[in-house]
Amino acid sequence: MTLPADSHVHSEWSWDTGGPASAAAGRMRATCAQAVRIGLEAIYFTEHLDVPGTWHAEPEDLMPHQQHLLNGAGTVDFAPFDAAGYLDAVDRVRHEFPDLRIHTGLELGQPHLVGRQAAQLVDLGLIDRVLGSLHTLDLGDGPAEPHTLYRDHAPAEVMDAYLAQIPVMVAGSEVFEVVAHIDYAVRTWPAPSAGPFDQRRFEEGFRSALRSIAQGGRALEMNTRRLWPWIPQWWADEGGAAVSFGSDAHTPDAVASHFPEATAMLEHVGFRPGRTPAELWRRVHVL
Ligand SMILES: [Zn+2]
Ligand SMILES: [Zn+2]
Repeated sequence: MTLPADSHVHSEWSWDTGGPASAAAGRMRATCAQAVRIGLEAIYFTEHLDVPGTWHAEPEDLMPHQQHLLNGAGTVDFAPFDAAGYLDAVDRVRHEFPDLRIHTGLELGQPHLVGRQAAQLVDLGLIDRVLGSLHTLDLGDGPAEPHTLYRDHAPAEVMDAYLAQIPVMVAGSEVFEVVAHIDYAVRTWPAPSAGPFDQRRFEEGFRSALRSIAQGGRALEMNTRRLWPWIPQWWADEGGAAVSFGSDAHTPDAVASHFPEATAMLEHVGFRPGRTPAELWRRVHVL
């Protein structure tokens, strides 16, 4: 079976990998080589488009190669996205890997809050796929990642607030086509203190978030870092019509990880491929 495009991939042009002048240099090229090796036909490089200095963190929230990004004010600071450098790099790999369909993309964090600043960095109209991601939220002490918030707030409060913000993000921005990783706050759920994550506790929050995405005419990303069968099931129940598949790879080895299992899960709830691997999968009516 032909795998769908990996529609969520990062390279050295994403600030959290270290940037193009770091040890991450060459990762876009290496990721293309790996994609060809595993038979992937299409890929989207969806680099982070975030506004520096807009959320706070603690040193333990950042990986070793990111520690220097924490500034004296306790906010995460990095060089703004280099649109020209990124587009040149995409052009180079397109020439080097003519059999791989290489698409442009961006992962826009908090699109409902940073639309104007993002538009100053890059013309989003030129980009093939824009993902909308909720990475941070403000529970009264300024914006922070769920990972940071779990330390000072009840886990259920963080999860509820995260899910309640999704409809606000959808209503507040037209620039993104796909909502990425709706399970973002599940990734760092503090299981040692709170017990294993149980989606049934948050079912209504997930369902109303999914409903808002469907009613807003957006697609949902099947983020394959973790596979949850209840997400495609609830997405279908709530009227979801389209999905993309994204590994959220930051290193070449992770490209298209778990895609065979993820596509089987989506087929099971009635989604089918588009005409080409680059297209979204859509739900067909099942008899
Ligand atoms: Zn993300
Ligand atoms: Zn990502």
